[in-house]
Amino acid sequence: MSKKWVYLFREGQSDWKDLLGGKGAGLAGMTLAGMPVPPGFTITTEACNSYYENDKSFPAGMWDQVLGNLKDLERTMNRKFGAAEYPLLLSVRSGAKFSMPGMMDTILNLGLNDQSVKGLIKATNTERFAYDAYRRFVQMYGNVVLNINKDKFEQVLAEYKQQVGPKAKDTDLTTQQLKEITNKFKAIVQDETGKPFPEEPFEQLKGAIEAVFASWNTDRAQVYRRINKISATLGTAVNIQTMVFGNMGNDSGTGVAFTRDPSTGENVLYGEYLPNAQGEDVVAGIRTPHPISEMEYDPNFPGVYYQFRDIARRLEVYYKDVQDMEFTIEKGHLFMLQTRTGKRTGQAAVKIAVDLVKEGVIDQKTALLRVPADDLVQLLLPRVDPEAHVTNRILTKGLAGSPGAAVGKVVFTAEEAEERGMAGEAVILVRRETSPEDLRGMVQAQGILTAFGGKTSHAAVVARGMGKCCIVGAGTIQIAHDESHFSVDGTDIKVKKGDWITLDVDSNEGRVLLGKAKTTMPELSSDFATLMEWTDKYKRLGVLANADTPHDAAKAREFGAEGIGLCRTEHMFFEGERILAIREMILADTFEKRQKALSKILPYQKEDFVGIFKAMAGYPVTIRTLDPPLHEFLPHDEEQIRELAQDLGVSAEKIQRRLETLEEANPMLGLRGCRLGIMYPEITEMQARAIFQAAVEVNKQGVKVLPEIMIPLVSDVNELRLQREVVDRVAKEEGILEAGIMYKVGTMIELPRAALLADKIAEIADFFSYGTNDLTQTTFGLSRDDSGQFLPHYVERKIFKDDPFRVLDREGVGQLMQIGAERGRATRPNLIVGICGEHGGDPSSVEFCHIINLNYVSCSPFRVPIARLAAAQAAIGEIQRDK
Ligand code: PEP
Ligand code: MG
Repeated sequence: MSKKWVYLFREGQSDWKDLLGGKGAGLAGMTLAGMPVPPGFTITTEACNSYYENDKSFPAGMWDQVLGNLKDLERTMNRKFGAAEYPLLLSVRSGAKFSMPGMMDTILNLGLNDQSVKGLIKATNTERFAYDAYRRFVQMYGNVVLNINKDKFEQVLAEYKQQVGPKAKDTDLTTQQLKEITNKFKAIVQDETGKPFPEEPFEQLKGAIEAVFASWNTDRAQVYRRINKISATLGTAVNIQTMVFGNMGNDSGTGVAFTRDPSTGENVLYGEYLPNAQGEDVVAGIRTPHPISEMEYDPNFPGVYYQFRDIARRLEVYYKDVQDMEFTIEKGHLFMLQTRTGKRTGQAAVKIAVDLVKEGVIDQKTALLRVPADDLVQLLLPRVDPEAHVTNRILTKGLAGSPGAAVGKVVFTAEEAEERGMAGEAVILVRRETSPEDLRGMVQAQGILTAFGGKTSHAAVVARGMGKCCIVGAGTIQIAHDESHFSVDGTDIKVKKGDWITLDVDSNEGRVLLGKAKTTMPELSSDFATLMEWTDKYKRLGVLANADTPHDAAKAREFGAEGIGLCRTEHMFFEGERILAIREMILADTFEKRQKALSKILPYQKEDFVGIFKAMAGYPVTIRTLDPPLHEFLPHDEEQIRELAQDLGVSAEKIQRRLETLEEANPMLGLRGCRLGIMYPEITEMQARAIFQAAVEVNKQGVKVLPEIMIPLVSDVNELRLQREVVDRVAKEEGILEAGIMYKVGTMIELPRAALLADKIAEIADFFSYGTNDLTQTTFGLSRDDSGQFLPHYVERKIFKDDPFRVLDREGVGQLMQIGAERGRATRPNLIVGICGEHGGDPSSVEFCHIINLNYVSCSPFRVPIARLAAAQAAIGEIQRDK
């Protein structure tokens, strides 16, 4: 006997998605559960694969099995395929394991020809209906199977409708017209293919099956698979099913529905139905369907609503998840045509998961796995209304610096953003790239758009920390020299200063829309809080936040952060008047002058730390000593340099000279990280003093403080030793131990050499934190600031699987992390190891951190819930794998 290529619905199982495809498995499941499903059978995905392996011919035995199963349908229905008396008609639909919009959808009414149409008339007593079905079939078959351009058929249809009247619809066509149209459609087929329309039903069926197989490999399907990471080896199944008709009068109809509202998650039937219509009418939008709730009181469908509601409930309980269903009502009889897992928004996903636990349908672990961690962004940040993409033109796209939505007037300088923002105007700061100088403007802007920069460039990192929408690397925008407008390459658009734009950013890309688009601000529900509580039960990783201000620290606590994993002190240097003191320090040419400037900064820094320690009462606060290159603190344009020269009583030339010596080329690896503190230990000393003085002060107020000082960009243990000496000395001087305060000194591991020599570094470090932004940059040898020029291209061409600044590169960077953790712990078994690069808030990277046994991840406050959920999912995944 040959292999089994074809399964009757009643022979399948609801979980045989690999073999029967998603649709076939759903039909089998519903049939087995005794639901009203028109009988049919499924040709397996294996048959599709074999078809391709055999030079596009059906595998041996398949066609005979199709014929055998067709006999079964004929017996069940007591009709004959293609017969002149009450013919059996078929629908043929593709159905891969995952639903794929790029593929062939459906052929209806297969089996009609000049003979059987008469049988259909006799059996149904409605000539118009039969000819309407016939013309639809020839049209669909001509287009989908014979690849004839749709417009050719539509044109004929339009001409006939014109004859009826200017606003005539399909339903206004007369029987005679439909007959003529069918003949014209057949003539089109003859003209286009050089062959007559296939009248023979078995030939029609063969052609339809081949068309489904062929649709697996169309360009569209291949592109869709590539984008959605669906394997090309899965193949598609073919579902062949007895036709039922929703267009047999007012007691017939068709519809689609979800068991719950897929946008809010509310537990109500959600969907639409259309009386006297076939499936494609609902999709085509020619007539407006009714909300499914109206069916309850529709006199044409007595009881059908309740029957459908009952089936919907049973399906949901059976599949333990929300279902998306298609149905048809033929002369008052309900038939189920499809059921599959319903897609949903992030907000709905949370509510549905929590509700299903409350209803006893699933357990907490399953609920946690049901919500894609990244989708939580939709609950935490404002979003652009999807409709806006219709009303507001997309100007250009860029990299997703920081997700969310922002609407504002275009400004081109940080000063203007600050000024207008403070005055209550909504502005979007548009820059070629941003530097820390722009910070004050960024704080006041609604959103930030830059032409250059990658996902971990300054603008992106800072914006993410603030939960502010930001697009970076929008390479097509050109900012005019006089900063009066920006233009967009390849268009004649000029966006002037003061014009409204909207930024719309999801986790994949950022879109710039023209004008003021509508946005929505989600509200956090109690379901969200419940789900978050559950994460804590299962996750092993700690989740900390990257926060630089008391405000961000408080936000981080609200989202459940268990401390601060990275406080970037440089951001504090830009607040208010302090920038002047910093500039004085940089321009100081003697130790004494530098000390004098530093003593001005100390009280500011201390004040910040006091605020942060209080916000994080009882939780660790990891403070990093100064890291960025100093030129970032100096002004660059001539006028500002002149102003600064005046303020500080030095010459503009002097500033210019200093700027030149400080100049760094991408990827800015000069006087950065601990190198700064080694060249100028007094800077580290001032910072340590500010931290410890703040700690003592807050401690006196009865608030528990756990300061952790972190030294960045260390490549050798000697660097850490020198910096630690400074910190320990200041701790003693400030009487930290006497005050009963425990503090730690650790390091960031941001360079491959540090990871490799982790055993030595751990002799001095109390903890490690992976700065994977820099570690990625230095491992790949690519700059985080200008990689936007080629990285998207690399990802598109699959040279890199993902953008390594977004999703941690497990193979390379990850290997270094693993080596670092192992070697570090070999020296110091209790070494705490975490991550504070941007990857700390990316679900896949969080999973990797769990796998390699890190102690914690740290990410921007708005990503804390995502990291918590991802950490719980990683732990549950591990429990399930180990079972
Ligand atoms: C890092 O390099 O990953 C890091 C957290 O530091 P920064 O982004 O400030 O360089
Ligand atoms: Mg770094």
